[in-house]
Amino acid sequence: MSREGVLDALASICGADAVLSSAEDLVPYSFDGTAALKMRPSAVVFPRTTAQVAECVRLAAATSTPIVTRGSGTGLSGGAVPTPGCLVVCLTHMDAILEVDPRNLTLRAQPGAITQRIDEAAGRHGLFYPPDPGSQRISTIGGNVAENSGGLRGLKYGVTRDYVMGLEIVLADGQIARLGNACVKDVAGYSLKDLFIGSEGTLGIITEVLLKLVPRPLARRTMLALYDSIEDAAETVSAIVAARIIPCTLEFLDRVTAGCVEDYAHVGLPTDCEAVLLMETDGHPAAVADEAAKMEEIARSHQARDVRTARNDAEALQLAAARRNAFAALARRRPTTILEGVTVPRSELATMVSFIAATAARYELQIGTFGHMGDGNLHPTFLTDERNADEMDRVHRALDAIVTRTLELGGTITGEHGVGLAKKPWLRQQMGDASYTLMKQVKRAVDPHGLLNPGKMFD
Ligand SMILES: Cc1cc2nc3c(=O)[nH]c(=O)nc-3n(C[C@H](O)[C@H](O)[C@H](O)COP(=O)(O)OP(=O)(O)OC[C@H]3O[C@@H](n4cnc5c(N)ncnc54)[C@H](O)[C@@H]3O)c2cc1C
Repeated sequence: MSREGVLDALASICGADAVLSSAEDLVPYSFDGTAALKMRPSAVVFPRTTAQVAECVRLAAATSTPIVTRGSGTGLSGGAVPTPGCLVVCLTHMDAILEVDPRNLTLRAQPGAITQRIDEAAGRHGLFYPPDPGSQRISTIGGNVAENSGGLRGLKYGVTRDYVMGLEIVLADGQIARLGNACVKDVAGYSLKDLFIGSEGTLGIITEVLLKLVPRPLARRTMLALYDSIEDAAETVSAIVAARIIPCTLEFLDRVTAGCVEDYAHVGLPTDCEAVLLMETDGHPAAVADEAAKMEEIARSHQARDVRTARNDAEALQLAAARRNAFAALARRRPTTILEGVTVPRSELATMVSFIAATAARYELQIGTFGHMGDGNLHPTFLTDERNADEMDRVHRALDAIVTRTLELGGTITGEHGVGLAKKPWLRQQMGDASYTLMKQVKRAVDPHGLLNPGKMFD
């Protein structure tokens, strides 16, 4: 079938106003949040129902048109970057929160629902959806499940996977599968739902999610600890965890990042210290008071220059917002911002943080580092310019050095942003031949014609 024929068929499935095909309309769908990766798709379609998604997939299968599924396009590994000639299936019009069930502590939503809206809907029932990626105001729940996203509260509450109870999936042949359910316990058959969590749009299209909710914490305390040495901040994190305290948030900003955030957000962050730790504990008021006192004591015994406590909710929200703005703030410094997401065991944090600083000096690059330090998840962020070939070469060599050192320390090439295009050169190295081959066999079994997000994850 010709491209015109495919466009006509898409229009008859979803409506003419749900199909984009002109060169200028396709530009915003040619990239995601990952720097320096671009490709124009053949067309973009915005289905409104699962049946329409299934029909689009059947049409794509019949015409051998590759599909790239897209949520809000905030991904940081190139997962939603189009492959040549592909159809982008964009799910932002399927954004309804279908049901909050306070008796079963669950929430059902379409895949395009915005992450923050999900927590707000839960909050209206005194409930809580904890996973809060820094992008929560714009990312979709479908994208979160497809990337198994983490967030600022991951240390205590875990990641998206820990809250997915059920999924509706459109498979590569257009069949609709329902995986999981509202039962707290279920061991019937293979846990196929888990296969699709973190599958980055390569195995199926998520068209509905059933999420677990938890009671909303009664109290919260937010603190900032300021350091003259990055290693002291890293050692504080290890010491808090070793003291068997599990705060909900232990986020880190280095001097470069804190300076950029302060320029951007003006929240009173000091710009003359080497590291800032954002620490937050939540739960029962008595436990919160006790944990906050212990965390302050540990921070001071690890040479924190100062420890400040937010005086009220508004101030706490402002401090958390400052951390959420880190990427946007860094992105203002240079034309190209390349954000990485390596993760190491927490005992290796100080080693890794020093290695990143030494690598920046060795390759004469500007790297701002921040991240979910309580999870061992660091975001070394290269502030660079993709038009400068020599600088980009040094960026790639520095990145390879950082990823290689991460693996030597027992870490992972990606803690939350996925493999996509950006991390696929290192996937085999991390997984080893047997696991890597097994993953490719799974992909072939579920998507035998390589229709879904081809070229991602595997070489
Ligand atoms: C400022 C900023 C802060 C961020 N902070 C965090 C953070 O703290 N933690 C974190 O984990 N990530 C973070 N991210 C990365 C990103 O926001 C997440 O990966 C998010 O889950 C992507 O959601 P999305 O809707 O934008 O998905 P997209 O970018 O559109 O897609 C991401 C991947 O999921 C696939 N996909 C999307 N929807 C579906 C679906 N319905 N079915 C099947 N596959 C699908 C796509 O094919 C692609 O491979 C951040 C990004 C930015 C820009």
